[in-house]
Amino acid sequence: VRSAIDFETVDAAVGRLLPQAVEFLGRMVQAGGLVGDEAAVQGVVADELARLGFAVEHLPIPDDIGSRPGAGVPQCSYDGRHNVVGRRDGRGRSLLINGHVDVVPVGDLRLWSSDPFSPVVRDGWLHGRGAGDMKSGIAMATLAIEALLTAVPDALTGPLSFVSVIEEECTGNGTLASAHAGVVADGVLIPEPSQLSLSLEGIGVLWCEIAVEGASVHAADPRAGANAIESTMPILTALRRLEAEIATEVDGTHRLNIGTFRAGDWQSNVPDVARLGVRLGFPTVWSQADALARLEAAVAAAAADDPWLAAHPPTVTPNGLRAEGYSQAANHELVELVAAAHCDVVGTEPEQMPGSATTDARFYLNQFDIPALCYGPRVRNIHGPDEAVELSSIEVGARVFTRAMTEWFA
Ligand SMILES: [Zn+2]
Repeated sequence: VRSAIDFETVDAAVGRLLPQAVEFLGRMVQAGGLVGDEAAVQGVVADELARLGFAVEHLPIPDDIGSRPGAGVPQCSYDGRHNVVGRRDGRGRSLLINGHVDVVPVGDLRLWSSDPFSPVVRDGWLHGRGAGDMKSGIAMATLAIEALLTAVPDALTGPLSFVSVIEEECTGNGTLASAHAGVVADGVLIPEPSQLSLSLEGIGVLWCEIAVEGASVHAADPRAGANAIESTMPILTALRRLEAEIATEVDGTHRLNIGTFRAGDWQSNVPDVARLGVRLGFPTVWSQADALARLEAAVAAAAADDPWLAAHPPTVTPNGLRAEGYSQAANHELVELVAAAHCDVVGTEPEQMPGSATTDARFYLNQFDIPALCYGPRVRNIHGPDEAVELSSIEVGARVFTRAMTEWFA
């Protein structure tokens, strides 16, 4: 079947349709997708999938999803928040494309060269929150599908579905719920922005809140109370030590990030509580329970050395991602086929990205025994100001996907 496809015609269609894909990407960026506010961007994706001929459905996320193995701790109610799935019938081996529409907060607006939710193209890069991670990948995949449908209408012979999920960045519960609702296939492609390399593995990631208690009094007599902000200092030191310990125990990049710090509400009050939001990257050989135990032990040891904290032990509470490590075997046919497609388009073997974070691929691999990999556009500054995607890499990635998809179905 493959030999029957004229990829010059397909590539020409990709090039011709690229401006339209960039427009779709811009609409997705504009629609946002911060936690709790994903309905607008899901509407944009649903419309695009319907335009391409998919049968589109909104999939609710059950509120008890957090109790499933691998689930994260839900961030807020799932009322009015849903996944979108598009399905195309076919015969033979099935393929699922997964993309997330949720985005991380923008931080200080003054650090952006332009408004994060008003997409702007400069020097061939489209800027905006989520432009790279990972709305660019969604646009890349739909571009590949539309090019095939336009140039070789019979090429997509197998059952093809496309799921657009929420909460990838904080729990993974969108993808997990969709898979439990039956949105699975014989293989899964996730166009996360991998710099046009293969991303086959992810480390463990655990989110926890560490709450440090103080005692609030007037600032004029601080010794009558206890300053919760100052009490975090030994905890911060212990967290840095834990990261260093993990680095000496195992290979790889396992960063412990202190991402949020919330404390105090008045400058003349001694603060009564300080809350640290921590993201612990942990080795693939650990379970999330192992990771939680190590974090709790590090905090408890630091507290034991401090008179106030020994009497008022800080609490460690999981509050989001509870992702265990995963790995897709490189010799699987799905991997070889994407690598060959990349080789065909780019002329060299794709590089393999080392795992230092997680993706929703873990659910397919760990919970459902389905092959899954990430391959997507070239991006910069994801999770930072001036996040951007290189538009030419969307075109290249789409060309790679046209070959990988038809080969999978063939
Ligand atoms: Zn992502």
